[in-house]
Amino acid sequence: MQPSALPVASSTVPFWRTERHALDEHRSTAELPEECDVLIIGAGYAGITTAYNLVDEIEAPPSIVLLEARQACSGATGRNGGHLRPSPGAAVFDKYGVAAAVEVALFEIAHLQVIKDLVEMEKIDCELSFCRARHVITNPGILQGLKGMIEAMRESSQTIFENWHFVEGAAAEEISGVKGALAVFICDAGQLWPYKLLTHLLALAMANGVNLQTNTPVLSASKIIDEDGFWHFNTPRGTIKARKVVYTTNGFTSALLPEYAGVIFPVRAICSHIKIPKDEEAPKLLGSYCINYNQSWDYLIQREDQSIIAGGGGITFRDDYSQWRNNVNDNALIEPARHYFDNYMQRNFKDWEDSGAYVDKIWTGITGCTPDSLPHIGSLPNKSSQFVLAGFNGHGMPVIFLAAKGIAQMIKNGITFEETGMPHVFKTTQQRLDQKV
Ligand SMILES: Cc1cc2nc3c(=O)[nH]c(=O)nc-3n(C[C@H](O)[C@H](O)[C@H](O)COP(=O)(O)OP(=O)(O)OC[C@H]3O[C@@H](n4cnc5c(N)ncnc54)[C@H](O)[C@@H]3O)c2cc1C
Repeated sequence: MQPSALPVASSTVPFWRTERHALDEHRSTAELPEECDVLIIGAGYAGITTAYNLVDEIEAPPSIVLLEARQACSGATGRNGGHLRPSPGAAVFDKYGVAAAVEVALFEIAHLQVIKDLVEMEKIDCELSFCRARHVITNPGILQGLKGMIEAMRESSQTIFENWHFVEGAAAEEISGVKGALAVFICDAGQLWPYKLLTHLLALAMANGVNLQTNTPVLSASKIIDEDGFWHFNTPRGTIKARKVVYTTNGFTSALLPEYAGVIFPVRAICSHIKIPKDEEAPKLLGSYCINYNQSWDYLIQREDQSIIAGGGGITFRDDYSQWRNNVNDNALIEPARHYFDNYMQRNFKDWEDSGAYVDKIWTGITGCTPDSLPHIGSLPNKSSQFVLAGFNGHGMPVIFLAAKGIAQMIKNGITFEETGMPHVFKTTQQRLDQKV
């Protein structure tokens, strides 16, 4: 696979970015700093939480520059489904077995409390709420596999999984409210306005000295360190030198690190905001959802104002690779899915037939995917003082905060990946780099 292109200059406007934060296109200094201790490339969830955790609780923080090709949170973070749903991790279970799947699931579940505490501590207005997520199966082909995995994880004797429920048969439609449901797996989840959470944390990091430079794409990175211990990065505004660098560049990582071509690659996704006409009362959904259709997944949350954020639609374009694989164009819709969310609620949910629900906004975004469906986190093999935190496979919300905290600890305290407590299967290794698409 070819290395990724850089982010395109303009993009479709997601619902979440209709209320812009003052820092959206901010530059802390008119000139690009010439050098810094830590350069973070990419101001999305991963880059901002790395910066936030780096300056948190240390007396003399390093000089940190956060470079962003476009506006802050204009990538996947500003265009996602707002769903904070720990998943049982089928890919980990299939490849690495139950112990690894439990390790990942516990790491993801921990995010529910961590994000709750963070939002309370920092008093962040981001519509955070918690619910029971319904993971609905309509395809008999995947039912047994999911059921077996959930049973195996519950048998691992982790009491935390006791509030996982799996229901199949006639009751599934009733319990999920989804037409054609064959089974439903229920677990705890959250939902929030990601742009509001992250721009708030960005402001806090900047108050502690982080220098933000938006509209500054890194065009290339030096392959060797200079004699003073600096890596060099070229931008249209000049070169910046850094002693350490963190690539929080999502699906675009291989544009700067060609060794990650086919290892982390861009995948285009589509999402929508569905509204209810003013004079109509929509049924309250029972929680948040992931719904499987054939081999693809849709996901949705209902906001307090009854409107829905719904994404997925892969069933309409999965077979046409050009629509999504290695595609960075979030300035255009995925054509076969353009009308997928029209009447989505009426088609799929019981009691929604007369709701009048209609698509208010639809947009695309670029996720970073990996052949083994696991993120790449840690220091780069063979490049000391360079770190990567990317490749969340469209599922970063319950992973990134604690992963960024781990990266920040590696940088601040010089600890190893293993000492951070992150799931071992997330570590970026030469062996994983050799498994390209
Ligand atoms: C449509 C959609 C729906 C999703 N829904 C969910 C969901 O409901 N739940 C969930 O858990 N996850 C979801 N995800 C995934 C989630 O949004 C991501 O995992 C998460 O936002 C990734 O954060 P990030 O910081 O790694 O990437 P991003 O937010 O994409 O940030 C990376 C940033 O790096 C910048 N950048 C890249 N290259 C360069 C360069 N060379 N120079 C400078 N800057 C650069 C980009 O412009 C971008 O702003 C969804 C993703 C999409 C696209």
